[in-house]
Amino acid sequence: MTIVHTHTFDAVIVGAGGAGLMAALYASREADVAVISKLYPTRSHTGAAQGGVGAALGNMEEDRWEWHAYDTVKGSDYLADQDAVDILCQDAIDVVIELEHMGLPFDRFPNGRISQRRFGGHTNNETGRPVMRACHAADRTGHMILQTLYQQCIKNKVNFFDEFQVLDLIRVGNEVRGVVAVEITTGELHIFHSKAVMFATGGWGRCWEVTSNAHSLTGDGAAICLRRGVPLQDMEFFQFHPTGIFKLGILITEGVRGEGGVLINGQGERFMTRYAPNIKDLASRDVVSRAIYLEIMAGRGINGKNYVHLDVTPETVNKYFAEDGEDRRITREHIEAKLPDIADFTRTYLGIDPTREPMPIQPTAHYAMGGIPTDVDGRVLLDAQKTVLNGLYAAGEVACVSVHGANRLGTNSLTDLVVFGRRAGKHMAQYCKERPLEPLPTNPAKEIMDTLAQIRQNEDGARPYELRQRMQKSMTAGVGVFRTQETISQTLAELRALREAYKTVTITDKGKVFNSDLLEAWELGCLLELAEVTAVSALARTESRGGHARDDYPERDDVNWLKHTLCHKEAEGPYRLEYKPVTMGRYQPKARVY
Ligand SMILES: Cc1cc2nc3c(=O)[nH]c(=O)nc-3n(C[C@H](O)[C@H](O)[C@H](O)COP(=O)(O)OP(=O)(O)OC[C@H]3O[C@@H](n4cnc5c(N)ncnc54)[C@H](O)[C@@H]3O)c2cc1C
Repeated sequence: MTIVHTHTFDAVIVGAGGAGLMAALYASREADVAVISKLYPTRSHTGAAQGGVGAALGNMEEDRWEWHAYDTVKGSDYLADQDAVDILCQDAIDVVIELEHMGLPFDRFPNGRISQRRFGGHTNNETGRPVMRACHAADRTGHMILQTLYQQCIKNKVNFFDEFQVLDLIRVGNEVRGVVAVEITTGELHIFHSKAVMFATGGWGRCWEVTSNAHSLTGDGAAICLRRGVPLQDMEFFQFHPTGIFKLGILITEGVRGEGGVLINGQGERFMTRYAPNIKDLASRDVVSRAIYLEIMAGRGINGKNYVHLDVTPETVNKYFAEDGEDRRITREHIEAKLPDIADFTRTYLGIDPTREPMPIQPTAHYAMGGIPTDVDGRVLLDAQKTVLNGLYAAGEVACVSVHGANRLGTNSLTDLVVFGRRAGKHMAQYCKERPLEPLPTNPAKEIMDTLAQIRQNEDGARPYELRQRMQKSMTAGVGVFRTQETISQTLAELRALREAYKTVTITDKGKVFNSDLLEAWELGCLLELAEVTAVSALARTESRGGHARDDYPERDDVNWLKHTLCHKEAEGPYRLEYKPVTMGRYQPKARVY
């Protein structure tokens, strides 16, 4: 591979999902910005987000940003940093209106205001009852956000490098100088020389077997930063969404339950009334996923199998509305209008009409609460003392601010993207104005060239898909909805064996042009590393909190564990753990009652 191009920009943003585009939009007002994306921008996973973006607009009933903040902190099992949560919930209102003004076609209430619906964990703090906070465009909210932001970026003349995959970060001492990328169509390397770099590369659900995440979600940005000396924060907290289509993992939005859908076990029982008597099917995701898992383990899956039903047929929903004393009723037409994509998915993939039959669902690996540690302006932090790595930024799912703590509330990811994407974009533009462009080190692409050459040369080793399947099975068995010291240790042993096997991973396509074989093998290296960091962090945390449920330590332990994990990669493994205090605020830890 030869280097054909060096490009120079003030700032380079890696990733064209909601976080990357929001940052690009703001940064490009004051700086020369490039966005590099391995996918065509509007194919980013943000486009798959269905249910909504959370903001306490209070368009239909009373709501306040403080209630949104309390729900977020409670949902996080008190691990979120409360200064960041306040920013999230206050800025959300303004950013959603801003998106509306950019032309985002939200659904509307009859009075013309943005339509809002209920979602898991969103409550009126005074009554404890669900509140309508999720602003939505049918069940295509992420798609609309992505299209709107992309159009705005084009209008603002952001430079896009589509189907370029970033493989390394250029770091000199305590500063970054750019990134190295491969142009996927030609296989040639490009150096992007810049004053600032931002990673907005999304999550890594592909570590697990059943996931709602797209194939491209392989955690590249997090793994690259880890290899360049940035720790990863709170990696043991990965969210399992309760309602993935059985076996396929494709997401059925929580908006279905927001519209009144209920979970039913093999005995025809609405079992969430036992686990969360107040808020029932709209309890937070960790709570609902564990409840489903426990029902299945107790033999109460449908026909004793590994799934339960999600029922949004008007007959069932209206029966429970009447039982709960709610004065609303729904019709088939309402479901078709509010959940058109879900109706389409279930008809296509299951042959089921959700307005007439229940859907078979099981928990699916969904969202990374952890990631690259940042401050509230998106600046990447290197340690528990919060030392900043100059010029490096992160936002969106790959970042950990942390507003989601141990468990994220539904609709808070889209809010996170636009709120912190905007702040990071602004800060980065300011940073670029104040700094000169420092020279590149010699041959910055050497290491990644060697890595790729090695993968090409390997012969007679395992194929990438074999290693990937072993990793996914082991992560599901050992570091899934529930985990214990024993299961995590078994997974760690398997991951270490896989790390060894990966050294000789062998591909068949040795060519240059569009070599997805090579790039998938490289991505597998990222997944393996993130899986190991997740397992190492999970093994150390001897308590249960949010998405991290230890069967051997079932209680939350605020005395010893009200702190963030930082996992550092030392030269050739092992990983080193460090801990950082949680920023508290108005809310002190209490037992979570739903
Ligand atoms: C099915 C589904 C439904 C969801 N529904 C909701 C919802 O209703 N509400 C909500 O709040 N959240 C929802 N979420 C979560 C939310 O959509 C994601 O967390 C969020 O969209 C992530 O956005 P992002 O900008 O961080 O990254 P993404 O949108 O995932 O984009 C990542 C970008 O990084 C690029 N990239 C990655 N690696 C590289 C590399 N090495 N080089 C170059 N480019 C790279 C990709 O090309 C892409 O442009 C949902 C998630 C899923 C999977």
